[in-house]
Amino acid sequence: LAYYLKQIEDNKHLNAFNEVFFYSAEVQAKAVQQKIENGTAGKLAGMVIGIKDNICYKDHVVTASSKMLDGFVSPYSSTVVQRLLQEDAVIIGRLNCDEFAMGGSNETSYFGAAKNAANPDLVPGGSSGGSAVAVQADMCLAALGTDTGGSVRQPAAFCGQIGLKPTYGRISRHGVIAYASSFDQVGPITASVEDAALLLQVLAGADDNDSTVSPLEVPDYPTLLSENKKQKIAVLKETIESDALDPEIKSAILKSIDDLKAHGHTVEYVSFDLLDYLVPAYYILTTAEASSNLSRYDGVHYGHRNTEAKSLTELYKRSRAEGFGEEVKKRILLGTFVLSAGYYDAYYQKAQQVRRLIRERVDALFADYDLILSPVAPTAAFKIGDNVQDALVMYMADIFTVLPSLSGNPAIALPLGNNSEDLPLSIQFIAKHFEEDKLLAFSQAFL
Ligand code: GLN
Repeated sequence: LAYYLKQIEDNKHLNAFNEVFFYSAEVQAKAVQQKIENGTAGKLAGMVIGIKDNICYKDHVVTASSKMLDGFVSPYSSTVVQRLLQEDAVIIGRLNCDEFAMGGSNETSYFGAAKNAANPDLVPGGSSGGSAVAVQADMCLAALGTDTGGSVRQPAAFCGQIGLKPTYGRISRHGVIAYASSFDQVGPITASVEDAALLLQVLAGADDNDSTVSPLEVPDYPTLLSENKKQKIAVLKETIESDALDPEIKSAILKSIDDLKAHGHTVEYVSFDLLDYLVPAYYILTTAEASSNLSRYDGVHYGHRNTEAKSLTELYKRSRAEGFGEEVKKRILLGTFVLSAGYYDAYYQKAQQVRRLIRERVDALFADYDLILSPVAPTAAFKIGDNVQDALVMYMADIFTVLPSLSGNPAIALPLGNNSEDLPLSIQFIAKHFEEDKLLAFSQAFL
């Protein structure tokens, strides 16, 4: 613990932590030490873990990096935190992220952008930017993020780490501040596949507090890692040929396709003609869900409250106007619009139908293939401030990560060396629903 606390002190300028839990981490570390001496310690004994600041931990502040929740103390722990503590992990603090996990660069945080440790002028990606930087700069051994449309995978990619989004329904969302409930999943950001497998094993599985969690048994992911089978891999042709894809990422991926073939895997190009529909469907559905989820922040129940309002309506209005940042307001407006009576059929309903189509297309691919290969992001990490003015550029950058988010499949971002500017590159593999065991074993062999 002392080592990581020193790392945090030395890397303060990266703005990865919203708060370090000095006291509770110390208490927990001591208790775990005792258990280790008694031989009763759990699976994660002594693992020092950071959590994204949208995951509730009893008696600790949780803000989702929003002024709206500044100072809000969680009255209970999320299921994922309970499971970490049960297995004797030490939770070292809460990590910076985009406000309410809305963003892809960590720049919408009320507490300012986190910075990429490879070059502090660059974004770490988002929304789980703080989680990725914390692992990248060794400020904790592993971190939890949440992934709605890429928020674990893309920051992991920008920071050269491993980011796993499990199947929708693999891990409980109880106590995780909601962005878009039919997409949100907690996922680990780690430096090794072993750590990802171990964390998934501890976190996954049925939970009485979240009925969307699958009752499927949780495989012993760490033990299954050594399985090294030859896989049949589909490369989404349109993603590799996309004009938006940075040439260095493209050539790194092409090279790794050659390597995969040389190792005996079957790799084939397949066409995926729904690519243009991914980002629009994603943003219609997630903003719709967000506008509903965020209606609970009324200035009465949580966090920020305007003190001058003279009526209840004015209290709602002023508290929300002051508490939410620009990006969040934009999405609430968009979501409210697509759900409104006159536009529901044209946008929300349509996007649901598109989602169904995408899911069917992905399922059909998996009838013939074990894994799907694509880039994670179209570029490597970009400069802080460069894309903030252009929402469309920012949203389009999610094009490759939102596919498994829409279809619910598990997906992983794996490091693929550095580019000519020494910035991390990355590749994404997607598996069938609940085949994280196969995905992780393949990833282990791949790296
Ligand atoms: N960048 C995407 C968005 O802004 C993904 C965010 C996420 O996965 N939380 O919606």
